[in-house]
Amino acid sequence: LQLQLAHVQKMETIGQLTGGIAHDFNNMLTVVIGSLERLGRMAFDDPKAARRVEMALQASLRCSDLTRRLLAFARRQQLHPESVDMEALVRNMGELMERTLGSAITVEIDSAPSLCPALVDRTQAESALLNLVINARDAMPAGGTLTIATAMVEAGEGDAELSPGRYVRMTVSDTGCGMPPEVLARAFEPFFTTKEIGKGTGLGLSMIHGFVKQSGGLIRVESEPGRGTSFHLHLPCAPAAVREVKEPEDTVEAGPL
Ligand code: ADP
Repeated sequence: LQLQLAHVQKMETIGQLTGGIAHDFNNMLTVVIGSLERLGRMAFDDPKAARRVEMALQASLRCSDLTRRLLAFARRQQLHPESVDMEALVRNMGELMERTLGSAITVEIDSAPSLCPALVDRTQAESALLNLVINARDAMPAGGTLTIATAMVEAGEGDAELSPGRYVRMTVSDTGCGMPPEVLARAFEPFFTTKEIGKGTGLGLSMIHGFVKQSGGLIRVESEPGRGTSFHLHLPCAPAAVREVKEPEDTVEAGPL
């Protein structure tokens, strides 16, 4: 878990670097591309000059494409889904969460009995939870309560956003600052952050969103300024055949919180 925290911090640093560079680079490229396009529309005495401008424009457009792909790569996740007991995963991370949160924040864990395992990438699920916990901490500088609840939900034919089937729903709620509508609307955008430079990358929620969608699930958020925020992650249940796969021991046992 210590490694997990180091991984998240490393990803944050990579995100900061990639995001910062790509952002500035793209801004400058926009100027270069715009100028070259205008130049390209001018009449040149020398046909070689026109060709050079066209070549420079094409190269700049390729750079722009490369930057986009670099950003997409930074966000892309290689998933290895397995059968994961989400309740055990939450409990196993208890100690790390408490250390991350400090003493002013109370942690409450509420899990429904006989939860079916979720079919997800374990490392990504842990990173997602840790990211949500860090966001909750940042939203409660004066302290508060963080609640993590797990439950089973059944999606029916009428559910527009989820395919019919069983899901493990993990809800992470805080009693923090909440989000005004303009922040809520952009919260999942990559590189959107309201935190000061060095504190936030704006990658956490976009990575969680990508992970949940790629896993065949859904993420919903509710937030009220001044009252708090709840993230609901719906993760598909593992089919019975996958459920029989034996889990590593350290993840089955619930750690003390
Ligand atoms: P980061 O945490 O690096 O800013 P995220 O993608 O995780 O990036 O979050 C984007 C933004 O969403 C945050 O900057 C913050 O404004 C808002 N946000 C996320 N989680 C919460 C929360 N629990 N309470 C209030 N605002 C939040």
